[in-house]
Amino acid sequence: MPYRSAENLLFWEFEIFQQYEELTCLFSTIRNGNSKLNLGFTKFADADEVRKNRDLFLKAAGASGNNIAIGKQIHSRNVRNVTEPGLFDDTDGLVTSRSDLSIIVSSADCLPLFLYDTVKKVCSVVHSGWRGTRDGISEEAVRLMVELYGSDPSDIKCGIGPSIEASCYEVSNDVANQFDRNFLTPSKNDKMQLNLKDVVRGQLEKSGLLPENIEVCDICNKCDEENYFSYRREGEKTGRMWGLMRINQ
Ligand SMILES: [Zn+2]
Repeated sequence: MPYRSAENLLFWEFEIFQQYEELTCLFSTIRNGNSKLNLGFTKFADADEVRKNRDLFLKAAGASGNNIAIGKQIHSRNVRNVTEPGLFDDTDGLVTSRSDLSIIVSSADCLPLFLYDTVKKVCSVVHSGWRGTRDGISEEAVRLMVELYGSDPSDIKCGIGPSIEASCYEVSNDVANQFDRNFLTPSKNDKMQLNLKDVVRGQLEKSGLLPENIEVCDICNKCDEENYFSYRREGEKTGRMWGLMRINQ
């Protein structure tokens, strides 16, 4: 069952993490009664509604509002180890081993990554759009887990969450030229379709993760209008989903 409902919200979950009772790992859908669960303070969002939605999300995810860590994402390859709650500048990835601290990643079309060292009990969330993917932020997250916690990459499992599929992700030649041609498919209009999920999978395997420890969600959030926001589908008016990881005490 990839979906689980809680408090009237619907969450997407990974199969590979189901066996770890100590771990909470989920990704929001936009399902919220008659309105959409937007969790981002975007230009067109009503701030009060976003605050209300965040409270709803955190409650349903079993997190307390003052025990969360979230990065101010800037499409970088910056991954930060956190031991305290807070809002962290210039941060697209978070790593923690602290129990009861919820770490959060925000996304629309970009790839949300969820890593868990099942032995050392260290978790990480990563925002990997095309820039972060190009710059290898998933490799940086694994590197940090190895350096700070002595993680063995073969103990790390990773879920790649709902995000844009290659068939819906046409990029300019300028962007395409920054990626290996194995991940590109020619499309109409002389453009290329870019498969970010495969790029990230390759980076994780290069970092030492076992292929069977990587779960790639094949949901395309641009196609699945019922459950997800998509920048490619809705432009600047779109909202944001949140992914959350927490090691429970
Ligand atoms: Zn699609």
